[in-house]
Amino acid sequence: MPLTSSERNELRKALESLVEELDAALAGSTESAQPVELDPPAVGRVSRIDAIQQQKMIEAHRRAQQSRLQLARSALRRLDEGEFGDCMGCGDEIGRARLEARPESLYCIGCQTARERP
Ligand SMILES: [Zn+2]
Repeated sequence: MPLTSSERNELRKALESLVEELDAALAGSTESAQPVELDPPAVGRVSRIDAIQQQKMIEAHRRAQQSRLQLARSALRRLDEGEFGDCMGCGDEIGRARLEARPESLYCIGCQTARERP
C-alpha cells in the first residue's frame, strides 16, 4: 500500500530531525576525533591501548553517523521525487514498520540483509 500524504509528512519530519541531529553530532564530535597523542611518557602502555581503542570506537561511530546522514539525505531527496518507500534494490515497497523505525532506509529488509552479508 502506498504511503499516505500524512505518513509521508511524518517521515519527512523524522528525516529532517535526523539530519539535524546527525549534523549537530558530527559537528560537535570533531574535537574528540583528533588523533591520539601516542607519545606522552606519562601515559602507560595499557592506557595508550585504551586510548587507541576508544579512538577507533569514536571513529567507527562517526563513520556510522556519516553514512546514516547520507542515507537520510538521499531519503529526503527520494521523498521529493516521489520514490520514497520503494526499495532501491528490488523496487518493492519497504515495510511500513521498517520506515518508521529507520526512515532513512533505502532498501527493504531482504535487500539490506543481502547487502550487509560479507
Ligand atoms: Zn528490496
